[in-house]
Amino acid sequence: MSKDKILTADEVIEQASKYLSEEDTAFIRRAYDFAQDSHKEQYRKSGEPYIIHPVQVASILVELEMDPVTIAGGFLHDVVEDTNVTVEDLENTFNQEVAMLVDGVSKLGKIKYKSKEAQQAENHRKMFVAMAKDIRVILIKLADRLHNMRTLKHLPPEKQRRISNETLEIFAPLAHRLGISTIKWELEDTALRYLNPQQYYRIVHLMKQKRNEREYYISEVMDEIQKQLDEVNIQADFSGRPKHLYSIYRKMVLENKQFNEIYDLLAVRVLVNSIKDCYAVLGIIHTCWKPMPGRFKDYIAMPKPNLYQSLHTTVIGPKGDPLEVQIRTHEMHEIAEYGIAAHWAYKEGKNVDQSTQSFDEGLSWFREILEWQNETHDAEEFMESLKVDLFSDMVYVFTPKGDVIELPSGSVPIDFAYRIHTEVGNQTIGAKVNGKMEPLDYKLKTGDILEIMTSKHSYGPSKDWIKITQTSQAKNKIKQFFKKQRKDENVAKGKELVEKEIRSLDIEPKDVLTSDNLKKVSEKFNFNNEEDMYAAVGYQGITAAQIATRLTEKIRKKQPKTEDLEQTLEGVQNEIKAPSGPSKKKDSGVKVKGVDNLLVRLSRCCNPVPGDEIVGYITKGRGVSVHRADCPNVQTEDVKHRLLPVEWENNSEESKQYSLDIEISGYDRRGLLNEVLQAVNETKTNITAVSGKSDRNKMATINMTIMIHNISHLRKIVDRIKQIPDVYTVRRMLQ
Ligand code: MN
Repeated sequence: MSKDKILTADEVIEQASKYLSEEDTAFIRRAYDFAQDSHKEQYRKSGEPYIIHPVQVASILVELEMDPVTIAGGFLHDVVEDTNVTVEDLENTFNQEVAMLVDGVSKLGKIKYKSKEAQQAENHRKMFVAMAKDIRVILIKLADRLHNMRTLKHLPPEKQRRISNETLEIFAPLAHRLGISTIKWELEDTALRYLNPQQYYRIVHLMKQKRNEREYYISEVMDEIQKQLDEVNIQADFSGRPKHLYSIYRKMVLENKQFNEIYDLLAVRVLVNSIKDCYAVLGIIHTCWKPMPGRFKDYIAMPKPNLYQSLHTTVIGPKGDPLEVQIRTHEMHEIAEYGIAAHWAYKEGKNVDQSTQSFDEGLSWFREILEWQNETHDAEEFMESLKVDLFSDMVYVFTPKGDVIELPSGSVPIDFAYRIHTEVGNQTIGAKVNGKMEPLDYKLKTGDILEIMTSKHSYGPSKDWIKITQTSQAKNKIKQFFKKQRKDENVAKGKELVEKEIRSLDIEPKDVLTSDNLKKVSEKFNFNNEEDMYAAVGYQGITAAQIATRLTEKIRKKQPKTEDLEQTLEGVQNEIKAPSGPSKKKDSGVKVKGVDNLLVRLSRCCNPVPGDEIVGYITKGRGVSVHRADCPNVQTEDVKHRLLPVEWENNSEESKQYSLDIEISGYDRRGLLNEVLQAVNETKTNITAVSGKSDRNKMATINMTIMIHNISHLRKIVDRIKQIPDVYTVRRMLQ
């Protein structure tokens, strides 16, 4: 590539006209005129008129002999980003294809890259390719980056380093994968110059020192080969093989080699007209000089996955030094230099439609190459990144920190949440995509920035999530949650049954439910731990009586009858002096073990309902107030001595109702509140208060006070509400 020469637009168009039709040449000139007009009065950091940049980008594309649409795209690639021109303008002025290419390039420009991790670099490359959709977008972007690297000296050092890093990690590997080695080498060498100037100039210097000596030797070798070829009438061109600075640098750093160890390898390249001639030349070289074993590679029979074809061999040269020879046809050489661009190089005489068609053919041909190639080693490296990238259905989205996450296309924010962490998934209540609240079944797009909103009070995932999610990871985690939740329910139920059974033996549960005792008994019944034991009682794998009998074995022998509890309660009764009556007791639906006529009321702080685990608190003069066992108000040490066991009455009538507050959050859309009210109504539940609000992120919050019979009634309501589309969470409020 002509690095240093700045071409005028006329020169670029003139060069393109050598392979474009008159009509196509006029088309790209029109693109240039439009760009020139749009960018006028804009200047680059170097002080030059801005239009110089797009012209050089187009010139690189002309060198790759790209089709007229791509070249027009090169001229116009910055107009949408930097001027008032819109994608629609381009579609109207030129055509849909040009507009699509420029739109693609502008979008790629918005991807922010910052990570240093190899995996992240890989994901960024994938995101890039996935977002480009058309490979010509990447070719324009590579040309754009190449010219920016050539003019990097005008930027401040900090920017130079950042851009060089990005070039090494994203753009050079992309160029490599597309087989465009000319661009790849130049990107790498230029990046090295800014990232490690000392090493760069040292290698330049070392290479210069030996140049004359080497050039003389190589020309001797070429003469010798030429003589042999003349005898058999084979036409060939020769070239020395330039070593690239960055590849030398890499070997020095990665393989810890000295400059001489790398650069001592002499290399000659022979270009011939046919594949037959390639093998003929190989035979001649092998008869002239002794081949080194294990160094022959036939990339003609087995091309590299980035389309590279050539024969490689290393022989012991005339002076006893190893000499590497590469033999290939002119056409293979084109592909080695220009890769995928060479294959698609635009040939004169085709109209635009045909060129598009051949483009698609090129793509499928390329795909096939990739597919049958995947056994070779290099192929693996290539396949991993390119095949998956270009042709698979993946989306690439950002975390708020800028990491890229790869997900199958069709994924929704819940998939993303579970990819971050199981707990994040389980507590998800909403998602912001690019700063805006979106429903949880929003289909992610490559380039989206995702922020998951979670709440500790979330009721957990909804069963519907299994249907919306795309990844098996998320589906499995959701299923696990429900499995575990059922276990938790069984554990709670089992515990309740066992405690009840113990009390029926007139023993205070806490006296026998010591960890020692529980451990012993669960071992006796062959359970892993007490949880498993309770769970087994819960799903009736074993009866509560069996467990309770074992647990109380010792204590029953010692104390056939406990009087402590009754004494305590007697004291309480005296202290309370409550107006006793069955009606009071009935109102609450709660019974204090072994005592009648005690003033019992349900606390307002946590609104317990039948089915909740509860505990009684002996108030001063106002009887026993019943709290949920997990109510924060009864957790502190100083209230412990005033607590006493209470339980729901078994025959609690269905008609009895308890007031309870719930909060529903979801995506604020028309009709949401109505649907929630209707859902609650369907469960025959009375609503005593309701209020709703919505924030600027379109997050709706509905607070509701409802009258319920028991915990399973509540569960029914919650399940029903959660079936409403766009409802994220339902939670029960502590007041
Ligand atoms: Mn640009």
